[in-house]
Amino acid sequence: MRWIPFLFAAACFAQPYDVVINGGRVMDPESGLDAVRHIGIRGGKIAALSAAALRGTRVIDARGLVVSPGFIDLHAHGQNLENQRYQVMDGVTTALELEIGAYDVEAWHKQREGKRLIHSGVSVGHVQSRMKVFADPAWGKGLVPSGVAARRAATEEEITLLKRAVENGLQKGAVGVGFGIQYTPAASRWEILEMFRVAGRFRAPVFVHVRHMGPTEPDAMNALEEVIAASAVTGAPLHVVHITSSGLTQAGKLLATIAEAKSRGMDVTTECYPYNAAMTELRSAMFDPGWEKVLGISYDKIEWTATGERLTEATFRKYRSQEGMVIMHMIPDAVVEQAIASPLTMIASDGEITNGRGHPRGAGTFSRVLGHYSRERGILPLMDAIRKMTLMPAKRVESIAPQMKGKGRVKVGADADLTLFDAATVRDRATFREPALPSAGIVHVLVGGVPVVADGKLVENVFPGKAVRGVTSAAP
Ligand SMILES: [Zn+2]
Repeated sequence: MRWIPFLFAAACFAQPYDVVINGGRVMDPESGLDAVRHIGIRGGKIAALSAAALRGTRVIDARGLVVSPGFIDLHAHGQNLENQRYQVMDGVTTALELEIGAYDVEAWHKQREGKRLIHSGVSVGHVQSRMKVFADPAWGKGLVPSGVAARRAATEEEITLLKRAVENGLQKGAVGVGFGIQYTPAASRWEILEMFRVAGRFRAPVFVHVRHMGPTEPDAMNALEEVIAASAVTGAPLHVVHITSSGLTQAGKLLATIAEAKSRGMDVTTECYPYNAAMTELRSAMFDPGWEKVLGISYDKIEWTATGERLTEATFRKYRSQEGMVIMHMIPDAVVEQAIASPLTMIASDGEITNGRGHPRGAGTFSRVLGHYSRERGILPLMDAIRKMTLMPAKRVESIAPQMKGKGRVKVGADADLTLFDAATVRDRATFREPALPSAGIVHVLVGGVPVVADGKLVENVFPGKAVRGVTSAAP
C-alpha cells in the first residue's frame, strides 16, 4: 500500500502550477521581503514562493518588474465596470466604497454578482440611510443629499430608524459604517454618537468624512475631536477619510492629533489621495451659503466636470440647480506631500469617473504615488508606498472582513491578487482635462490568479472579482 501515497506525492510534485510568475522583484511589506523570487499560483492562491524557477501552465516573465500585492482602495465611489477598468489599469485589485456606502448592502452586492473585474465591497452608509429615511430628492440618484436629508434634524423616531438601518447593514455583510457628516450638517452630535454606538456594539470600523473642513471655526480640528470622542466613548474603530481635503491648511495638526490618539491606544487611522484638488456634488450642503469662507476659495477655483469650465457667480447658480460634480482646486501642494509622506496615511482614491468625466484620481491615484511622489519627488521609499496601498488597508478592514487577511501580502497561502509594474516608468496619465487616461507602467495584474491586465492591456470578458463582506456579531 505504500506506493499509493508515494505516487500521489510524486504526481503533485510534477504537476505544473496554474500560473507562474518568474523572476520578478517580489516586494512584500508584511515580511519585508524585497528579492527576486518565482511565484507559483494554484487555485487562485499563492502556492509557492521560490528562489528557483517554477513550471506552470501559463508563465509570466516578470524580469525587471516589481511584484507587489494588488492595490486595495478603501475609498472608491466608482463601483461599476467603467470604473473598475480604470482601477485595474492603475493596479487596484480590491476597491471598497466605505465612506458613503449603501443603504441596502444585499441589493448592492446582488447588482454586481458575476460582473466584477476586481473584488468589491461596501459599508452601510449613514448618509444613504438618512437619504432613504427622509426621502431626500437625491435618493437613488446621488451619493449625498441635495435637500431635506442634509438640512433637517432627525426626530427620535428617525434616529431609531437610522440605527436599525445601520444594524441591518452590518448583519448583511457591510464592511463597517460610512459617514459624510459634512453632507448632513443637520445631523446632531447625538445622532452621530448613536450611530457610533451601533458600530461599537458590532466592533465595526467607521469611515468618516468629518463635519467641518479647513481653518475656519468651527474648523477641521473641532470636527476631528467630535469623532475621536465618539470613538473613545463607543469603542468603534475610527478611520478618517481624505485628511488633506478635510484638513486643508490644518492637515498637519490633524495628523499629529491622530498620532497622539494612537499612542494612547486608540484605534484611529486615516488616508489621503495624491492630488491638490477635491471633487463633490455642487448641489450638496458643502456649497450652502458661507462656502467661500469655509473652503478658502472663490468661483474661479471651482471647475464644472462636465465641461471643464471654471465657474462664475452666474454659472454657479445655474449649475447648482442641476445634477453634477465640481472639482475644487483648493488643497495646498505642501499638504498633499506632507500627508503622503506621513507613516499614518493609507492611499485611497475617493475616485469616481462617469462616462470619462470626473477627477483624475479615479484612474491615476496609485501610479501617481509610485511614479510622481515616490520615484520623482523622492518623498517616500517604494516599500513604504506599497505598504500604504496594500498591507495597511487590508489590516484596517480584516477584523470585520476576515477574507482581507489573505490580501495585501505576497506569501504562501495568500490570495493571488498581484500587481506587476515597472518601477522605472510607472506613472499616472489621467489629468483634470483628460481624467480617464489609464496609467502607464502597470504591466500585469492578477485577481485571484486570473490575469485581468496582461502586457499592459486590459483582458476582456473576465470577471474574477468576488464580494468582500463583513462578518459581524453584536456584543450582548
Ligand atoms: Zn468625502
